[in-house]
Amino acid sequence: MATNGYRNRIITVANQKGGVGKTTTAINLATALAAIGEKVLIVDLDPQGNASTGLGIGRNNREHSSYDLLMGTHSVSETVQETAVPNLHIIPSTMDLLGFEMEISQATDRVFRLRKALISTQAFEYSYILVDCPPSFNLLTMNAMAAAHSVLVPLQCEFFALEGLSQLLETVKQIRGTVNPQLDIQGIVLTMFDARNNLAQQVVNDVRTHLGEKVYHTLIPRNVRVSEAPSYGKPAILYDLKCAGSQAYLQLASEVIQRERQRLAA
Ligand code: ADP
Ligand code: MG
Repeated sequence: MATNGYRNRIITVANQKGGVGKTTTAINLATALAAIGEKVLIVDLDPQGNASTGLGIGRNNREHSSYDLLMGTHSVSETVQETAVPNLHIIPSTMDLLGFEMEISQATDRVFRLRKALISTQAFEYSYILVDCPPSFNLLTMNAMAAAHSVLVPLQCEFFALEGLSQLLETVKQIRGTVNPQLDIQGIVLTMFDARNNLAQQVVNDVRTHLGEKVYHTLIPRNVRVSEAPSYGKPAILYDLKCAGSQAYLQLASEVIQRERQRLAA
């Protein structure tokens, strides 16, 4: 049990860069955790709603959404939906989220909307809650960081990977110093690794040198099956369990759980 009284682990998947694998990681890590027997919730906080679509929740099937949750008009149980994956639920997003920042800018609790919504017995049902963030440091991402125990950072194996990371780590530090003193780095996961690309291995080495322990051993390979899966409304793990990408996300999930055990034992 976490120190703040939450009975679950709330992990924000964040990186201010787009296209680095946040949503893919949220969906597939959540699916893998659910497959291991954890009860998992994804909160889609990106107005683009890729996590929702990727889990088969079509745009016409999102009566209540994360926007309603943040606005305080609907609860977790009123916004949550089942997915095709047993043990995995999602609070989908809608384009309404685009208006959230403007509508809420005067509210003194504007950063704490998600935290407040997740302090509920309905949310305590889940052992893991993964929050999929938009690609920017806006009020939505701030809400996610204010609500979370930790931040999981997907980092694409490319030349500029480290550049944005220092800014992200700085933001986490600021959040820790202000609205959420407990916020931790859950880990850094290297995504879209291509072994044929010499530069990719160099990036992996650089990231490991700079960040050491925080970087997961699991490398998520670039894998076409992983990129195809969302168009079928399925996580890669359901679409093609045997593909290298699915296997890597299963491995990542066991690493996450192993580290959680170590953390709780410490
Ligand atoms: P973000 O949420 O950070 O914007 P996404 O998870 O949506 O990033 O990934 C960006 C694009 O890259 C998507 O088209 C996705 O399908 C693709 N992608 C992500 N991870 C992989 C992977 N391991 N192999 C191949 N394509 C991937
Ligand atoms: Mg995304």
